Amino acid sequence: MKAVVYEQFAKAPKIMSVQDPTPEAHGVVIKVEATGVCRSDWHGWMGHDPDIELPHVPGHEFAGVIEAVGKDVKSFKVGDRVTVPFVSACGACPECHGGNHQVCGNQTQPGFTHWGSFAEYVTIHHADVNLVTLPEAMDFATAASLGCRFVTSFRAVVDQGKVSAGQWVAVYGCGGVGLSAIMIANSIGANVIAVDVTEDKLALAKSLGAYATINALQVPDVAEAIKEITRGGVHVSLDALGHPTTCINSIKSLKKLGKHVQVGLLLADHATPPIPMNLVIAHELEIIGSHGMQAFRYDAMLAMIKSGKLRPDKLLGRTISLEESIAALTTMDTHNPPGVTVVTHF
Ligand SMILES: [Zn+2]
Ligand SMILES: [Zn+2]
Repeated sequence: MKAVVYEQFAKAPKIMSVQDPTPEAHGVVIKVEATGVCRSDWHGWMGHDPDIELPHVPGHEFAGVIEAVGKDVKSFKVGDRVTVPFVSACGACPECHGGNHQVCGNQTQPGFTHWGSFAEYVTIHHADVNLVTLPEAMDFATAASLGCRFVTSFRAVVDQGKVSAGQWVAVYGCGGVGLSAIMIANSIGANVIAVDVTEDKLALAKSLGAYATINALQVPDVAEAIKEITRGGVHVSLDALGHPTTCINSIKSLKKLGKHVQVGLLLADHATPPIPMNLVIAHELEIIGSHGMQAFRYDAMLAMIKSGKLRPDKLLGRTISLEESIAALTTMDTHNPPGVTVVTHF
């Protein structure tokens, strides 16, 4: 099969012809029809993820058609249209038994723990636990955009932040995660304030339902600006970018008893930001992480998509070829156009 392979970190990947994968007894092979280009892929390529062994194929947010099925798989067959959350769970550890597949102790992640979806085919383990059947009406590019940023945002806003109608929510960073969070929080009746440093992303945030937008380059203190708009701070704030500055500003913009949800990855030099614990204690703040979402929680999200309350298709940016994915991946830190970039030609 054709795949994007990197043999060294931070050195340009190449298109290569590699061996076709075969499914494990509990797994499947999926023919990739669409795969998103995500900042986590960039982190992986830069060498920030200790799970990655070289040579490696990136890609973890995808949708496609089942090409081959392992002998123990019960609920899926060749030809099924499917997607997956980016964390594949084992289904058998204490976390999985507790319903928390997103933090499975034996988790696998295509594009990190094994070869990913910047290729014609990708393997998924424990298929019965992890596959999600796509609704008939959903195209592959939209489905691919769900598996990482959209589901993580859904869990961050709905399950972790427990955002409710009428609450104030701040979202720091208007990339794929942030725009998803804005749409989701808005759809359940929250008033959302979007923060970014680029006007085109803030305009997109506004079009997706943000009540107010703040260009962080144009105000002396973002948290103060938020407190002014909300008269005291937000109930829930998300760092959807993953940077010490946005993480700390997010915490500072909370009202008392507020919740900070960390969604953007903090890796390498950014892994241990100086959290203002004085505020956490004095204001009884909560700091919560969000790491993907269980496959079984897709039902609620897909129902909101079906009813038109959520429109992930609006988050799609450009569609590109597998060849073009190399430039999209390697320039992600310097050139990051609005919306989710999806590979649709293999
Ligand atoms: Zn991702
Ligand atoms: Zn598990």
